[in-house]
Amino acid sequence: MGQLNAGIVPVTPFQQNCTILFDADDKTGVVVDPGGDVQQILAAIEGNGIKITAIWLTHGHIDHAGGAMELKDALGVDIIGPHEADRPLLDNLESQAQRFGLPGEVRNCVPDRFLTEGETVSFGDHSFEVLHCPGHAPGHVVYYNRDAKFAHVGDVLFHGSIGRTDLPGGDHAALIRSIKEKLLPLGDDIGFICGHGPGGRFGEERRNNPFLV
Ligand SMILES: [Zn+2]
Ligand SMILES: [Zn+2]
Repeated sequence: MGQLNAGIVPVTPFQQNCTILFDADDKTGVVVDPGGDVQQILAAIEGNGIKITAIWLTHGHIDHAGGAMELKDALGVDIIGPHEADRPLLDNLESQAQRFGLPGEVRNCVPDRFLTEGETVSFGDHSFEVLHCPGHAPGHVVYYNRDAKFAHVGDVLFHGSIGRTDLPGGDHAALIRSIKEKLLPLGDDIGFICGHGPGGRFGEERRNNPFLV
């Protein structure tokens, strides 16, 4: 098994971190949150010779899921996640796109498989535990790789901030519970990539994130 690598392609006017997780040796991998700019994502995949086996979604917001169906058609792979509680968001991506004035092709998304707490998803030898972390969105999931001490946290937690909770289905108390009861207990040494801006480590967020102290 090769090392777990991650490449980031910023997509959409929201500069969302579309993330390509892949094995450094055999170059199999997945795309997490293809929110848009699908041609750029495809160029990154082809440019690095990565064999994509699935699309994983953290939640149903436009900047994370808006390009999922177009990318699925281009790659011929399944869309996996998020939790089914985000189905109403995924059913309304086209209206989200209109509301935010987003250009390009956005299609409502029908995942091939929704996820629930405690399931495992994988590519190659890399396994990720699924943590259901509502608050920013009702069906938000986090992908946690115990061996690599790595988590993709989407819009739950940011470096020095947390996800907004003023969108439909947002719940501030639930978001804080998700972070404090599910993410931080995984350990201070867990590195994370998030949906916007730089990632970090849970320990630094536990000590210094003004929304958590
Ligand atoms: Zn979001
Ligand atoms: Zn976002």
